[in-house]
Amino acid sequence: MNKGDLIGKCIVVTAGGTQEPIDPVRHIGNRSSGRMGYALAEAARDRGAEVRLITATTSLPDPAGVEVMHVRTTTEMKTAVVEAVTKADALIMAAAVADYQPKTVAKAKIKKESAQSLTIELVRTPDILSEVKGKFLKVGFAAESEDLIANARKKLENKGLDLIVANDITAADSGFDVDTNKVTLIDRKGRVEELPMMSKREVADKVLDRVVGILAEKSS
Ligand code: C5P
Repeated sequence: MNKGDLIGKCIVVTAGGTQEPIDPVRHIGNRSSGRMGYALAEAARDRGAEVRLITATTSLPDPAGVEVMHVRTTTEMKTAVVEAVTKADALIMAAAVADYQPKTVAKAKIKKESAQSLTIELVRTPDILSEVKGKFLKVGFAAESEDLIANARKKLENKGLDLIVANDITAADSGFDVDTNKVTLIDRKGRVEELPMMSKREVADKVLDRVVGILAEKSS
């Protein structure tokens, strides 16, 4: 790791868990703390990059020296990403993006009725990583509870990624809502690098080492 190896580069990072409203006071969400994305944004900043952090979390303070944009829903995140990537060298999607959103959002708070069940129809959210196109390098995360490597490889292909960070969320102290992570990095050339358990900041620097390497390969 070289402190200045991202000078002159623009890196867009997403973080946190998107929320999909059901009514004015309720939403569908997930347990993402945003810590992996924030660690990536801070590490990229410390290596000299211009960083844009698009975050769906409010529990962490905005990092200094980073342009921060707060969003709530997947659709809002997509709009922010589309705008931010125009001059980006890399997009790193660490956000835990909702896969489904309620088909309609109730205008008033949904009342408890006498019926014992309530059905909410859900529809797919836009897949930001797949849909956002451009010359920038794309890094995705795969949080998996089974067949980690095979599923991550599929996502790398299907979403047209340069690198995927495969995250076994069943391992203790790894994944959602903890300070440490155990990941495997897989790139387009099929290189697989299994990393030991480390802090999210250390994982962030390992991911950025690969980003620097792939950016250099692409420009040579
Ligand atoms: O398909 P899956 O949700 O497992 O893919 C995970 C990766 O795709 C993550 O990098 C996540 O940020 C991104 N993603 C996205 N838009 C979605 C769902 C996931 O960009 N709607």
